Amino acid sequence: MLETKVTEISGVGPALVEKLAELNIYTVEDLLFTFPSRYDNHEVSPLSTLVHEQKATIVGTVANQAVVTFYGRKKSKLTVPIRVENVIVKGIMFNRAFAKKHLQEGETVTLTGKWDQYRQQLTVEHYHLGEKTEEDSIQPIYLIRQVFKSSQFKKIIKQALAQYSDQINEILPMAYLKTYKLFSRAFAVHQMHFPTDFEHLKQAKRRIVYEEILLFQLKMQALRKYHRERTIGTAHHFDKDKIAYFIRRLPFKLTEAQHKVLTEIHDDMVSPYRMHRLLQGDVGSGKTAVAAIALYSAVLSGKQGAIMVPTEILAEQHHHSLAAMFNQLARVELLTGSIKGKKRKDRLAALHNGDINIIVGTHALIQDEVNFKQLGLVVVDEQHRFGVNQRKVLREKGVAPDVLFMTATPIPRTLAITSYGDMDVSTIDQMPIGRKPIETFWVKDSMMPRLISFIEKEVAKGHQGYVITPLIEESDKLDIQNAVDLYQQLDMTFAGKLKVDLLHGRLSNDEKDQVMKSFARNETQLLVATTVVEVGVNVPNATVMMIYDAERFGLSQLHQLRGRVGRGDAQSYCILIADPKGEIGKERMRIMTETTNGFELAEHDLKLRGPGDFFGSKQSGLPSFKVADLVQDYRALETARKDAQLIINDDKLEQDPSYAGLKKFIDQVLDRHIQGFD
Ligand code: ADP
Ligand code: MG
Repeated sequence: MLETKVTEISGVGPALVEKLAELNIYTVEDLLFTFPSRYDNHEVSPLSTLVHEQKATIVGTVANQAVVTFYGRKKSKLTVPIRVENVIVKGIMFNRAFAKKHLQEGETVTLTGKWDQYRQQLTVEHYHLGEKTEEDSIQPIYLIRQVFKSSQFKKIIKQALAQYSDQINEILPMAYLKTYKLFSRAFAVHQMHFPTDFEHLKQAKRRIVYEEILLFQLKMQALRKYHRERTIGTAHHFDKDKIAYFIRRLPFKLTEAQHKVLTEIHDDMVSPYRMHRLLQGDVGSGKTAVAAIALYSAVLSGKQGAIMVPTEILAEQHHHSLAAMFNQLARVELLTGSIKGKKRKDRLAALHNGDINIIVGTHALIQDEVNFKQLGLVVVDEQHRFGVNQRKVLREKGVAPDVLFMTATPIPRTLAITSYGDMDVSTIDQMPIGRKPIETFWVKDSMMPRLISFIEKEVAKGHQGYVITPLIEESDKLDIQNAVDLYQQLDMTFAGKLKVDLLHGRLSNDEKDQVMKSFARNETQLLVATTVVEVGVNVPNATVMMIYDAERFGLSQLHQLRGRVGRGDAQSYCILIADPKGEIGKERMRIMTETTNGFELAEHDLKLRGPGDFFGSKQSGLPSFKVADLVQDYRALETARKDAQLIINDDKLEQDPSYAGLKKFIDQVLDRHIQGFD
């Protein structure tokens, strides 16, 4: 059994057990699935293929005695002429004078090191007398920190493989091994540690990556299926004509994309299954309108709806726009932390007795005192801003209400597959027609005087603008403009011409509110702010978004910020003030000026930053794969996802013995889920 403790491996005594534990290796399985993090190539290359400054391995014969020169204190340099393909090149070794005696004239030797094309010499890292076998030419490198010597670790693995290879049972169905021409599990594991050659290694990795991704997908889809089929939700019944009437009343025509996602949401709502769906769409793509129609559907079926948003500003905005849309058709109320006293009590009572049809609120909605008469649909906006638990609490306020999550942070397809695997996903992939794309410019600080007059011109046309800075307090270490300073500076610059205000995270909620309200009423024209305005703020009259030190933001965040303008009919502008030092920073600024498509940006962001950083550290939610790489193994991900879908719905899963491994895996996943582990 692979679950056997490492103590059973012969030669592994208490001292080694302790060392293995430092690497989180307790069982034979842990050990065998600790794969090398990379492989060094010591394959011999012909001289003509060597590249300057790159690592290479050559084989030749010693043409002449090595010469050793000493310098400094105890430092030495050994130079040995080697005949390779009838050409003489030099091998250089530092501080290894003792090697001289091995390197006898006429001796065959294999050298690995960095090649200098101009001097025709190799600075040797490893040498080996005689020719290497192909197996020696691939050097697995394990991430074993300082715990083991590499040779010692390899010895333990070799022993474990000798004892337990035949117990590495196949987990993938035969049919898949055949279709994809995959190595068996046992053979692949063996090859990962001791590859015969690079082709075998490639195939072994392919097999392990597929298994890793398929199991992950199966887990996600098993959970999703469980939610759909074994949790009884609410089957909504509503009059389609009334929905059509509601849609006709809207001041715009729904886009095709909005219609499409609405159908998907309605199908879920009508079914007795519990909806667990993510609605993703770029900033301004019209998610709120879709949510409103879904909420109305719940109301028509005699239930209540709730929409939870991350900030008070956003709650008020949503309340405002929903109240307008529902004028006369439903009672829409607001519940936030700042609603207190009698007003709060009344509101809670009206929610409990069902007088309120739709409630818009912040975290205030998930407090114990909040009770519904019959909650049928929960919408969670900017869902990534909430913790898993917060989302769960609201969901539990009703008898299995349907849940619709919304996000305007476009997720690259690769990541959507992995991080939202347990949700159904609807995507609004089209913007309302007639929107003018925001014009984006990337400028340097020195342009400031021109930017000042540009802002004045926009304000003269009756428009407003934002100026964003990354941090709110001065910091010596980080050479950044801070909001307070900037505010004072701009306030002086524009004195008498326009009013400037300041918004940052250290203000109290009341203060923030005041600032936002006067900006919304155009009492102030320029708002200096930190990223608190990033989410959802809607002031259609604002046409300028100026971002200081733009290189400090991720692409997705810049895109969110940019989405604060371009919300009305007028042409809007985004100005990135940045002087990035590195190529990546420059590339990001260029991309921002070239596209306004959030999904495209997200793909770029992922490529530039890598999956780990994509979401920031706070809520990565990403699976950590041992071998698979979300970006590189994208195709495998898509394939595995389709396969997982087939497998999860296939009768063979229950009956066919070749599916037993996967069935066992899925059962374990569900057990853990039901017991509340994941
Ligand atoms: P999101 O929440 O996706 O960022 P909103 O729902 O706030 O976007 O919509 C942005 C703006 O576009 C709102 O002012 C809304 O009234 C408007 N809008 C929504 N759908 C359409 C449409 N189909 N055609 C024109 N305007 C629309
Ligand atoms: Mg929105």
